[in-house]
Amino acid sequence: MKVLVVGAGVAGLTTAIALRRRGVEVEVFDADPKARTSGGGLGIASNATKVLRALDVDLVAAGVGRVCERFDLCTPTGRPLRELPLRSIAEELGSPVVNVRRNDLVTLLRDSLAGTPIHHGAAVTRYDHVDGGVSVTCADGRSATGDVLVGADGIRSVVRARIAGPQQLTEHGYVCWIATVPFDHPRLRPGGARHYWGRGQRFGLIDVGGGHAYWWGTRNVRPDDVRLRQGSKEEILRCFAGWADEVRQAVSLTPQADIVSVPAQDRPFLESWGDGPTTLVGDAAHPMLTSLSQGAGSAIEDGHALAHHLTVGDDIVTSLRRYERSRRERTRWLVSASRRLSRMEQIEHPVAVGLRDLALRWLPMSVVRRQNLAPMRYELPATPAPVTRTQHGTGGVS
Ligand SMILES: Cc1cc2nc3c(=O)[nH]c(=O)nc-3n(C[C@H](O)[C@H](O)[C@H](O)COP(=O)(O)OP(=O)(O)OC[C@H]3O[C@@H](n4cnc5c(N)ncnc54)[C@H](O)[C@@H]3O)c2cc1C
Repeated sequence: MKVLVVGAGVAGLTTAIALRRRGVEVEVFDADPKARTSGGGLGIASNATKVLRALDVDLVAAGVGRVCERFDLCTPTGRPLRELPLRSIAEELGSPVVNVRRNDLVTLLRDSLAGTPIHHGAAVTRYDHVDGGVSVTCADGRSATGDVLVGADGIRSVVRARIAGPQQLTEHGYVCWIATVPFDHPRLRPGGARHYWGRGQRFGLIDVGGGHAYWWGTRNVRPDDVRLRQGSKEEILRCFAGWADEVRQAVSLTPQADIVSVPAQDRPFLESWGDGPTTLVGDAAHPMLTSLSQGAGSAIEDGHALAHHLTVGDDIVTSLRRYERSRRERTRWLVSASRRLSRMEQIEHPVAVGLRDLALRWLPMSVVRRQNLAPMRYELPATPAPVTRTQHGTGGVS
């Protein structure tokens, strides 16, 4: 079996690794000529570090990123609101939460695929089903054929557009500025992550190891406010005037060219991700807001689940539909839970903000723990028992 993967982001690379581990031939195509990522950082939660470890990609052993030791929610000036029990949840689940630079994660995934062809500057513009298989064509005229096509081409996926037809992105009325920067501040301890919640804006400051911090800032913006959406450094500093010293310092130390603006967008949940021998993984299938930190995590789960179903079933198309069914309810829940949390995080009315902060402070720890544990709990699909022949030669599964 040969699988063509469109997209060499977290979803495409993990899918390719999972397939290679099961002996499947893979070819990967990515539009970007230089294998760049959008910069910034990622929180890779316990569910995803567990899947990666099952694929022999151990972030901790590889020295990539920093295990999250402490997670604090604070007011804009840095007063503590609540410590989230991420460390003890990770212990219970038996797998760490690791904060990484996106580039480091993608490099590690790419290195784990040594020997597998990854074509860069290969923007796939169309695919066709041919003789029970599939062919892809790139903008520069390159083409390839395989038995399966996996669309891992992100939130603006061309593969998804062919499966689902044209669809508008859903805008959520705020922008996210992100960057990583060499950073040292007494308030950001080793393995620390701090979120500062304000009125219609938030800030995150996270140790990603190697003397670097990943920071992100959000701000509610009107659709026509182009200046804020682009986010010059001066504009960002103005938005966070009066916030904690470490917040302003992280922005000040970052070169303008390293700051990326990302609008808060997702899509209505797609019920059907497949079309014959073609399927979707990651943001192409289920883009979600960043609030639960599970976009990349669920993409990693997808890749593992897809390889599992494709290699334990007999018929390719049936196996792909089984993979999609296995992922539908979990990812639907992650998309909607991210939206619910995002609405609470970005509220602007002072009374609502006061009530939110009171709730954060006084919510029983058992509730806080349950809420944070739910998205991080994930069971790997069970490996079926080997197929054995019966004595009478009809075959059977035992
Ligand atoms: C600000 C921000 C913070 C986030 N924080 C977290 C977090 O803490 N934890 C977490 O788990 N998730 C987080 N996410 C979500 C996470 O980044 C995404 O869910 C994840 O990157 C999705 O991976 P992907 O491979 O599906 O898509 P992408 O990373 O978008 O990769 C898609 C790839 O496809 C390629 N491509 C696109 N079109 C084509 C084409 N036509 N032909 C060939 N190649 C193509 C692109 O070049 C790209 O390499 C965050 C997202 C944002 C925006």
